Amino acid sequence: MVKISKEAALEYHQSGRPGKIEVKPTKAYRTQTDLSLAYSPGVAYPCLEIQDNPDDAYKYTDKGNLVAVISNGTAVLGLGDIGALSGKPVMEGKGLLFKIYGGIDVFDIEVNEKDPEKFCEAVERIAPTFGGINLEDIKAPECFYIEERLKKTLDIPVMHDDQHGTAIISAAGLKNALEVAKKDIKQVRIVVNGAGAAAISCTKLYMALGAQKENIVMLDSKGVISTSRTDLNEQKKFFATTRTDIHTLAEAVKDADVFVGLSKGNVLSQDMVRSMAKDPVIFALANPVPEISYEDAMAARPDVLMSTGRTDYPNQINNVIGFPYIFRGALDVHATAINEEMKMAAVHAIADLAKKPVPDVVNDVYKVNNLKFGRDYFIPKPVDPRLISEVSAAVAKAAIKSGVARKKIENWGQYKASLSV
Ligand code: NAP
Ligand code: MG
Repeated sequence: MVKISKEAALEYHQSGRPGKIEVKPTKAYRTQTDLSLAYSPGVAYPCLEIQDNPDDAYKYTDKGNLVAVISNGTAVLGLGDIGALSGKPVMEGKGLLFKIYGGIDVFDIEVNEKDPEKFCEAVERIAPTFGGINLEDIKAPECFYIEERLKKTLDIPVMHDDQHGTAIISAAGLKNALEVAKKDIKQVRIVVNGAGAAAISCTKLYMALGAQKENIVMLDSKGVISTSRTDLNEQKKFFATTRTDIHTLAEAVKDADVFVGLSKGNVLSQDMVRSMAKDPVIFALANPVPEISYEDAMAARPDVLMSTGRTDYPNQINNVIGFPYIFRGALDVHATAINEEMKMAAVHAIADLAKKPVPDVVNDVYKVNNLKFGRDYFIPKPVDPRLISEVSAAVAKAAIKSGVARKKIENWGQYKASLSV
């Protein structure tokens, strides 16, 4: 992985114009007439049209291409609760990614409010501005309530990316890894280490893909989550196992087919890896230090199907192959929500893309000429130029089919071509 120094990072952020994003006008503004159209008196006409028909906001304003990246700074990266303002560089960074990958404009909004009720009220009041809301870096368990409530009260897509972005990419990876291992998701035994924002949402999506609850064991910092525990929140309770024979991670992973780590670094040992079933799937996703390093896992046994959150190893699980395109598809049909159907469409589109021949531009970036579906490549690379058309179109189609689109797309070939870069 490229080593980044503190000096280089601070210089990057402060050089030239401080920060990473800006706002740019998209209409002519040179003449007096231009300005009278852009602002008073001309601007009154679109205002009145929108007053008559609120959906006209998509026609006369940037609403349909504008996403709010909203955080209260309570779970920023691996840094924890550093406060709303301190999280701003991350939210600006997310804005940059939305723009370069999805062509989507972002206002980053840092809300200095930890109380979930008051936080939701603040978001609800500013929601008319936006075509979608990306909740970011909000701590569990509050993030579950906040997202649920905003999905109910708002008529635009709301997605907490730390939960669902990760879930979508890792579910696509799991589907493909099990295909390589020739295992049926309905049969596999899955151990999920971690029971926070990402783990809960990932595991629910694996169940939607076919994983059976009785084959899943989840652990938090205190060990196996079982029905005998009295300290569990609602989300953890849902996954509590009735098994009484396992308490530790070592006991849980024995003979398991899948290990998904969304916890903390260096908790899965080589012995534990060796105790797993044939062709074990290991997603060690804690950042920046995974539950077990790629080298250690591969050294433990050669048949591991391995994925991490890091760019410098095969099969990176990186949210950036999801959120720009999920929102792109949702915005392009003026969706009122990002629902389960749309998430599942993204899972399948991402999984399917990994099975198609890889374009030269992707091989060139990774300085290889032979990326091919299999053990070392079962998740598409972030630089894959086909992601935007494949994933966005799949999400947009699912939105229309599931009845949350306010706009139809008639010509899919044309739509996909318009997205291609
Ligand atoms: P979170 O909400 O804070 O959850 C962390 C969970 O890990 C908690 O349930 C915690 O247990 C549990 N935990 C801590 N130490 C543990 C241990 N030794 N054994 C088992 N469980 C342990 O954080 P999150 O947002 O879900 O993220 C979790 C991790 O996944 C982070 O490292 C994050 O960087 C990583 N992540 C990676 C990706 C990616 O690669 N694309 C995406 C999302 C998250 P308690 O509930 O008992 O506190
Ligand atoms: Mg995040």
